Amino acid sequence: MKLLLDGMLGRLAKWLRLLGYDTAYFPDLDDNELVRLARAQGRVLLTRDRELTRRRGLNSLLVEGDELEEQIQQVISELNLETERPFSRCPVCNTPLQEIEKPSVKGRVPPYVFRTKEHFSLCPECDRIYWRGTHWANMRQEMARIRSGLSTKDPKIKKAEAAPTPPDTAGMGAPLC
Ligand SMILES: [Zn+2]
Repeated sequence: MKLLLDGMLGRLAKWLRLLGYDTAYFPDLDDNELVRLARAQGRVLLTRDRELTRRRGLNSLLVEGDELEEQIQQVISELNLETERPFSRCPVCNTPLQEIEKPSVKGRVPPYVFRTKEHFSLCPECDRIYWRGTHWANMRQEMARIRSGLSTKDPKIKKAEAAPTPPDTAGMGAPLC
């Protein structure tokens, strides 16, 4: 299933990409352009705007929760999304990542990363290199928790865990969480 997110849902877009879903996100499009694109590409439009969901000939879902975690849960359960391949898609531009040989990333990732990591992925579109950094395990846990629909009772923990930061993709490379 292919998705298109409106300009209010940038963080959700990054997460859905990290989860492996084909997620288009162009924050500068206006409502009519969003609707046209969704129809043309057969994408489900995820939006915060109730008005938009009433457009004819459009598959859409009104995203209701304010918390990122709620939003992810809602999208996965209401659209009945299958498990995609997590960490297989560039969170910045939505392009499927390609495995890349270790020697070819020398000088393009920090030396410590080069010494300690064996597996790297390349985004063929925006040329970013990703690897499984220190947040990898945490993020996998977070995803497992999101999928299970559990939430913790301690509001502090919930707040901290409900707002994980997608990988910082500035610079020459970035940990793929
Ligand atoms: Zn990319």
